[in-house]
Amino acid sequence: MGLEEIKFDKDIKVLVTGCAGFIGSNLLEFLLKKNLYVRGLDNLSTGSLKNINKALEASSGKSGNSNFDFINGDIRNPETCKAATGDIDIVFHEAALGSVQRSIENPLDSNSSNIDGTLNMLFASHKNNVRRFIYASSSSVYGDTPVLPKVEDMPVNPKSIYAVTKLTAEYYTRLYYNLYGLETVSLRYFNVFGERQSPDSIYSAVIPLFLKKINEDSRPVIFGDGEQSRDFSYIDNVVYANCLAATSENKKAFGNFYNVACGKRISLNEIIRLLSEYYDKDIEPVYKEERKGDVKHSLASLEKIREDLGYSPLVGFKDGLAELISKF
Ligand code: NAD
Repeated sequence: MGLEEIKFDKDIKVLVTGCAGFIGSNLLEFLLKKNLYVRGLDNLSTGSLKNINKALEASSGKSGNSNFDFINGDIRNPETCKAATGDIDIVFHEAALGSVQRSIENPLDSNSSNIDGTLNMLFASHKNNVRRFIYASSSSVYGDTPVLPKVEDMPVNPKSIYAVTKLTAEYYTRLYYNLYGLETVSLRYFNVFGERQSPDSIYSAVIPLFLKKINEDSRPVIFGDGEQSRDFSYIDNVVYANCLAATSENKKAFGNFYNVACGKRISLNEIIRLLSEYYDKDIEPVYKEERKGDVKHSLASLEKIREDLGYSPLVGFKDGLAELISKF
């Protein structure tokens, strides 16, 4: 099965939190293409209205029958969460403050958006009889355990404030099924990359930062020796996993948690080599001191999500990178 075959029940209404961010805006775009009614919620802290321009233009268009409503609001406000979840069937909860480094510098901000904000969303979803709640968790919960690949039942070992916030919110998400019957599914994304991932912050992810530097004709920066590796996953795989989680009737998935990735790892030095090939130039990174909180290697086992949700990656790393470069 692929993205085209995903089928939602007719007339369902969905909410995407963090809809103006990288992953949220890609999900939004896909769900609108499926002709669903989508409400988006975002406080525009790291996201941007330009990411949802098309949807906003359509919703203010003359036809007046747009399927999209945008709430400029904050998940730290319980009243906002209550209003956003009213009449909604499925919530895709993407809103959070990303970045390990940001969380180490501003622990309180990461805590309030990622933990309090998620609990507010769960509370409001339950009160408003939302049926299903898909939570964007993170591979960072595994930390630096040497065992690869990361299997879901391994002990977790978060190494940063960000990882603790994502794990705590994941626990709340699981409990909302066990205690209240809200059908929750947590998806532990490994490093995601793709269109609309911002390269403009000091906290940006490594691939958009590399591409930005190359486009400016300057040298990309690598913290450490570049041999650190990640299971980088193209955005379509993440949209696909979310849709499978949202439409699955497998009760085993509820209150459960799954890796979402490509199932292969690639080092930063290998990415630089690939980019040198694509751009046909010798790209020489600048190596700087390793950063605290960064894990050395990461790789996902995809067995559990394959078994329970029927997921397998749709796009491999190289194809995803080529696709992104063609649009960057
Ligand atoms: P992003 O920063 O592009 O998007 C997050 C969005 O949430 C932004 O639009 C931001 O404005 C919004 N937001 C933040 N705090 C908010 C608040 N208090 N109220 C309302 N909106 C708020 O990040 P992303 O890469 O799209 O990440 C989406 C989700 O996926 C996050 O939960 C993140 O933790 C998770 N995740 C991402 C990756 C990755 O590689 N990108 C990996 C693992 C997990």
